Amino acid sequence: MRAEDEARPKGSPDSMGPTPYVARHENSASPVTRHASRPKIAVYWTGSCGGCDVSFLEVGEAIVDILSQVEIVFWPALADPKREDLEAMPPGSIDVALINGTIRTEENVEMVELLREKAKLVVAYGACAHLGGVPSLANLSTREEILGEVLGEGWRRGPPPGGPEEDAPPDLLPRALPLSQVVRVDYTVPGCPPPAGLIGEFFNAFLSGEMPEPGYVFAKAKALCEECPRTREERVLKRIVRPHELLPDPEECLLDQGLICLGPVTRGGCNAACPQAGMPCTGCLGPTPKAGDPGLAMISALASLVRAGEEGEEAIPKEDEILDQLVDLIGTLYKYGVPTFCPLSPERERAGVRGKASPSPVPSQPGRGRRKGGAA
Ligand code: SF4
Ligand code: SF4
Repeated sequence: MRAEDEARPKGSPDSMGPTPYVARHENSASPVTRHASRPKIAVYWTGSCGGCDVSFLEVGEAIVDILSQVEIVFWPALADPKREDLEAMPPGSIDVALINGTIRTEENVEMVELLREKAKLVVAYGACAHLGGVPSLANLSTREEILGEVLGEGWRRGPPPGGPEEDAPPDLLPRALPLSQVVRVDYTVPGCPPPAGLIGEFFNAFLSGEMPEPGYVFAKAKALCEECPRTREERVLKRIVRPHELLPDPEECLLDQGLICLGPVTRGGCNAACPQAGMPCTGCLGPTPKAGDPGLAMISALASLVRAGEEGEEAIPKEDEILDQLVDLIGTLYKYGVPTFCPLSPERERAGVRGKASPSPVPSQPGRGRRKGGAA
């Protein structure tokens, strides 16, 4: 076992199966006993599809138990709190704020800065907050190109014609950003949306007050392939196919069959949900610390697999032909991480970039040792 995985919090998917929170509770080891009072939580979405908010239900009946052990002080999808309610809270009065979505508007920035001020801990919840997510593929176009395409060439900022100024929609930022490029992030629960096991792992750690070191990503440091039940033989790759072009063998590795599965470079933690369902992994849990840049790591892996049956330089043109079958390079290799891994051209960068906290693009996996009382 690797050092990073040895340092995983108790109740991790490694040790407790797909619904660790339930298992822990059934063993009468309720983590809530560490807290004198119910910790206060906030949940907020920025630029997201809403799936992360719904994902909390993935833990099944355990959600009732979890919610009974916390006090929800701000969660727009559940109640109807207003920004003024949040503004009125003392700094540091929220124990943890779970924020999902990409940061796309001025309002997103203001709200996450407010939550950062009010919360002891901020968690980037889901792939959009973690790395930028699917909405940040929009960074391949400028803000002006997007607005012109969607609203027509005559678009203008401000309220609808004849409407009051306060009806004006918030301005779009020049580009979408992951949460960590706007405020300091303490922990990450990755995924699109996060899988039940990792949500359970987070709540086990949080409610027990046994949080890992700040910076920890609640997913495995080892690659998804290691938990995938498909048989991988690292066969020579003679063609690359897309999912709609193939009915895959149910037991053979999808990459061996020519589908671009990002399992070799993606963190484990979802029990290889997509390959088990016959679909290649698209990398929503983010790259392993070892992989770093997922696209470069995957190209490197592919380069070693692609052989046209010949050795030496004669093979190179044919190998290039095979790699050319890889269409939609950024959408395939960086589906969730354009703002984290794909720098903009200088011209697009000049369109304006906002960022206040830009750590290493790949969150480290400290996790060594454990910090007590994270939620208290
Ligand atoms: S199907 Fe994907 S995750 Fe499973 S072994 Fe093959 S490459 Fe790895
Ligand atoms: S298999 Fe890949 S894309 Fe699917 S849930 Fe797991 S990490 Fe995400």
